[in-house]
Amino acid sequence: MKILISGASVAGPVLAYWLHRYGFEPTVVERTPAMRHGLGGHAVDLFGPGAEVARRMGCWDAIEAARTRIESMTIERFGKRPVHVDLSRLYAGISGSHVEILRGELTKILSDATRAGTEYVFGDSIATLHDDGAGVDVTFESGDERRFDLVIGADGMHSTVRRLAFGPEESMRRPLGGYLAVFSMPDVLDLGNGMVAHFSVDRIVAGYGVHQTGQTRAGFLFRTPHELHYDYRDKDEQKALLAKEFRDYGWKAPLLLEHLPAAEDFYFDSISQITLDTWQRGRIGLVGDAGFCPAPAVGGGTSLAVVTAYILAGELAAARSDLPSGLRNYERTVRRMVDLSRAIGPKVMRTLIPGSPTALKLMPFAAAAVPKLPTSVQRFIWSQNAVGKALSSVPLPDYSDLTRVPRAA
Ligand SMILES: Cc1cc2nc3c(=O)[nH]c(=O)nc-3n(C[C@H](O)[C@H](O)[C@H](O)COP(=O)(O)OP(=O)(O)OC[C@H]3O[C@@H](n4cnc5c(N)ncnc54)[C@H](O)[C@@H]3O)c2cc1C
Repeated sequence: MKILISGASVAGPVLAYWLHRYGFEPTVVERTPAMRHGLGGHAVDLFGPGAEVARRMGCWDAIEAARTRIESMTIERFGKRPVHVDLSRLYAGISGSHVEILRGELTKILSDATRAGTEYVFGDSIATLHDDGAGVDVTFESGDERRFDLVIGADGMHSTVRRLAFGPEESMRRPLGGYLAVFSMPDVLDLGNGMVAHFSVDRIVAGYGVHQTGQTRAGFLFRTPHELHYDYRDKDEQKALLAKEFRDYGWKAPLLLEHLPAAEDFYFDSISQITLDTWQRGRIGLVGDAGFCPAPAVGGGTSLAVVTAYILAGELAAARSDLPSGLRNYERTVRRMVDLSRAIGPKVMRTLIPGSPTALKLMPFAAAAVPKLPTSVQRFIWSQNAVGKALSSVPLPDYSDLTRVPRAA
């Protein structure tokens, strides 16, 4: 059976990998002209059941080897002494299987694992979908026309499949009141393997070193009283908006912003959730951020994308000839995990960016104190962590008896 997946980042390759192992024929269409391989983009986390899925794919050693290796963070504020945080002790305390990795690196490793059994189509996008009950007729922006047994949107927060099959994004996007920008630049701050973050009320400016490239990744987080209106595809408009927001910030922001015009991997978006409450309709389904983005950088979206893609493939394999019922079983299985994940973002947003002078005063000391605690105490704190609890709320199913194609060596 032929399954079309839109999006080749995290959820897409994981889904393709497992579908192939269960004997399906996956095709992945990706809008970018080539695979998102490499060292651009932002750092993401993989842990808990997400790490376990990567282990079952035989990818874990490569993921661990590619981790970011940011070992220290300096927190700065106007008029205060810097506070130093030892992140190497923090990671040891979180768990033995928590990795921070650049998304491009993760995509490379996951998609390399799919080479044997997946057709990739780059530089194209689904234009129309018609589900007639027995299959889905798909037209592409390139003009191609094909028919598939099932179509899955793994195409992120601004999913095209979701728009075509479930409705406009505005009706199912919940802004959490913040914005996030990230881009690469030369290491003018001399960060090496370190990170520096400057905090003020409603604003964070940060930079961290990317050891593989010797560059710095600059990050800007801010809150506004009203939603900003911009075209999410128009990078020049977003760059101008960011420059205006931080024009008068001070600290090292002007130095970072000097490199904004040349940034090729610039990312800017609102910190928003997707609130849709169903992720399947007939022979069309959604997975990862496309279906239930818990909000970038605040809800464990990467591990959620990995785990839900694994469960989706398993439930389709279990249902075999009745794919719509496989989609419904997938939705039932992941619902609690998704609901709990989406409950986290609004709470995290209240503390992530200091919202008051008191929060600004306390936050750096809380951040510095945790890595100094004994590892066992840190593990206890992390075991209470909402993201970990959400992902572990559904035991990771074992679908190994459904495997038809052995793992590539
Ligand atoms: C700045 C930033 C920081 C983040 N930090 C963290 C973090 O610290 N920890 C964490 O766990 N998560 C973090 N996230 C979230 C994480 O990146 C996502 O949750 C995760 O990447 C979701 O994977 P996905 O495959 O579902 O979607 P995405 O990674 O968004 O991938 C969607 C893919 O679909 C493609 N696509 C889009 N439209 C189309 C189309 N029409 N046709 C074909 N292809 C299309 C895109 O090009 C992309 O390759 C962060 C996100 C951002 C933006």
